[in-house]
Amino acid sequence: MSEGKESALFVQPGVAQPEAINSKFAASYKRKRKLAPEEYEEGILAGNRVILSQAITLIESTHPDHTDIAQKIIGLCLPYSGKSMRIGITGVPGVGKSSFIETLGKFMVGQKRKLCVLAIDPTSQLSKGSILGDKTRMEEISKDENVFIRPSPAGNSLGGVARKTRETIVLCEAAGFDTIFVETVGVGQSEIAVHSMVDFFLLLMLAGAGDELQGIKRGIMEMADLIAITKADGTNINSANLAKSDYIAALHLFPPTESGWIPGVEICSAVTGDGIQEIWNLILSYSELVKNNRYFEKKRLEQSKYWMHQTIEESLKSNFYNNPQIKSKIPEMEKSVFLGKHTSFQAAYELLALYNYQSTNKLGS
Ligand code: GDP
Repeated sequence: MSEGKESALFVQPGVAQPEAINSKFAASYKRKRKLAPEEYEEGILAGNRVILSQAITLIESTHPDHTDIAQKIIGLCLPYSGKSMRIGITGVPGVGKSSFIETLGKFMVGQKRKLCVLAIDPTSQLSKGSILGDKTRMEEISKDENVFIRPSPAGNSLGGVARKTRETIVLCEAAGFDTIFVETVGVGQSEIAVHSMVDFFLLLMLAGAGDELQGIKRGIMEMADLIAITKADGTNINSANLAKSDYIAALHLFPPTESGWIPGVEICSAVTGDGIQEIWNLILSYSELVKNNRYFEKKRLEQSKYWMHQTIEESLKSNFYNNPQIKSKIPEMEKSVFLGKHTSFQAAYELLALYNYQSTNKLGS
């Protein structure tokens, strides 16, 4: 025995590390973070869901490096996007959105369609838990290989969250999904954001006792291409039919739509499946009409313009509020407005002037 081995401090040479259990996995895991934009593009075009998910995570990230690479990936995927039918689905919590999507989704998968379900949930920031991101929702279709479900991205502003979803649509279309559902809770502004990124807007409503028309804002009803009364089964069928007549009468009061489409009202049940196929057929009829009369193209171009301006506004706003000098000056100005030393407008102009001065200096430097 050598001297060293007799010491209590002797360290055994150890054994060689075994190979990774799955060397392929280990290799791909190491590569995960280092994919080039072109590799993401290749993976997405091949329909690789893991790569698609990773690319969406980059879109959702606020890290500047991720934003850069995400924008490159979107640029590469853009030529392969635009071919899907984009459908917005809204309604108050509990109206039956996820049950409806589950039943319609199953039907569509049976029709050999590839479905992607995205969500915009403006409440997730407040509740710290996404209403729409609940994992138990749409349990059956979420297991289907032709269905891809992505919960609402987190974000500080609805505009930011919506833009991320708008960008995610591009990647999902490039990955071969021919139908995109964008779901949102009917709580106000988010419908406008969803309406500005879809071809067809479906409003789900509950049959109520007479005052149902007051539950939802007029503007949202006016955006709908179709109103579907949910849960029309069992003892609820009569009230669903009554609600249908009410809504048909209400829709008559709106001016004709630019698309040439006459919005309708259907009743349906996610439990029995009644009305689901009819709703899908109406969506297909709408699609045919607007493709023939070219409204489809026109609307998409207008939406692209809208998103350009939205992105500029979002970016200017976040640059402004994240500017360190502005950040430190704002409390002072707020106090000054409060004490009546500045009017709101004077304070705003002073802050904007400070911001402009800095931007000009930065540009000139
Ligand atoms: P969401 O919050 O809008 O996504 O609504 P959910 O799909 O989670 O449905 C809310 C509740 O209504 C659940 O308890 C469902 O089981 C029920 N529900 C949904 N669709 C139907 C339907 O077609 N018929 C009946 N009877 N109940 C339904």
